[in-house]
Amino acid sequence: AGAALPAQMPSMRAARFSTSVCRKSQVNSDVKITRTGKPILTMAGGRSSLGGYTATVFGATGFLGRYIVNRLARSGCNVVVPFREDMAKRHLKVTGDLGRIIFIEMDLRNTASIEESVRHSDIVYNLIGRDYPTKNFDLEDVHVAGTERIVEAVAKYDIDRFVQVSSHSASLDSPSEFYRTKARGEQLARSIFPETTIVRPAPMFGFEDRLLHRLAYPANIVTANHLQERIWPVHAIDVGMALEQMLHDDTTAAETFELYGPTQYSMAELNELVQKEAMKKSRHVNIPKAIMKPIATYANKFLWWPIHSGDEVEREFIDQVIDPRAKTFKDLDIEPVELKSLTYEYLKGYRSSSYYDLPPMSEKEKREEKKYLHVLD
Ligand code: NDP
Repeated sequence: AGAALPAQMPSMRAARFSTSVCRKSQVNSDVKITRTGKPILTMAGGRSSLGGYTATVFGATGFLGRYIVNRLARSGCNVVVPFREDMAKRHLKVTGDLGRIIFIEMDLRNTASIEESVRHSDIVYNLIGRDYPTKNFDLEDVHVAGTERIVEAVAKYDIDRFVQVSSHSASLDSPSEFYRTKARGEQLARSIFPETTIVRPAPMFGFEDRLLHRLAYPANIVTANHLQERIWPVHAIDVGMALEQMLHDDTTAAETFELYGPTQYSMAELNELVQKEAMKKSRHVNIPKAIMKPIATYANKFLWWPIHSGDEVEREFIDQVIDPRAKTFKDLDIEPVELKSLTYEYLKGYRSSSYYDLPPMSEKEKREEKKYLHVLD
């Protein structure tokens, strides 16, 4: 086409030539081989990249889900998102190029819908979990029976990789039902599909978290353990990054990962940090466990909106346990970020708009030493 251009348009010809050279150098293709020998063609090209892999993400509609779906879809992988509520999944549609995100309606008790969701995939992630029992699903139904159905489908269709997102402190003899059922889910997954990669994230923070926001939002913080629980909070985006890395690194198959942040905090220390950043004081009310646990258990059964459950009260008394034999972020070449470096970003919305972000306008304001804080409205 360049040769057909009239001689009087050399600059246009040069421009066309340079564009085609540019495009050629951008097409960075590679062939990867999966654990079971399937060739995967990948091609870099921005939002229209070809990732080659097909991944199913159960529990994609939750907090962590968006950070793994986004990473996979933007690198051009096809992502199957099993969902149960139409409105809960729509934000995921735009995380990748047109056609990359495929939605399938699924019910955790409907084996056919689970099989339909996994049968074309190279990797399956199970992020399904609940902090409290609901009207139709207790913790056993979600973490054990649900996991069993998913792993059985993975084994039936001989999927290359399976990643089970469990929880920190998961233990078969824990006093908390949540940690016990998470541990049983891990055990079951390994017994049905021995190459299962188990991921135990620490309490996660981020835009949609239930850690910093739970401390920043209410006027009264009600606890049973004087905010003494100790944890190693981790950034949800770091966990998403680690989950993506597991797809590309087959040595992570059959391994257990403990993903935790660089610093340990007590909830009281976190609360102090949150209040400083949000520039507001909330009242802390402590109710003894003997009173709080039965009330929370009872209320959780009869109220239809999520509230603190009896098991969550029990978990307040369990510090995060890290298994020293498990692999960590270091084995994935990821440096987890420090919570303190991001609290401003996540909590600035809680600051009162009565703070000024302009210099003092009058002598009176100067005398009163008005604070200069960045507020959006
Ligand atoms: P969320 O509670 O935000 O999301 C849970 C997901 O599981 C949602 O997609 C939800 O679907 C799905 N789900 C729950 N119950 C059912 C059910 N009965 N049938 C079908 N789907 C169900 O969890 P996170 O994103 O915060 O966490 C992801 C995983 O990591 C979970 O397994 C959690 O236990 C674990 N974890 C999380 C920690 C944290 O700090 N957030 C800490 C340690 C572990 P729907 O949207 O339809 O309700």
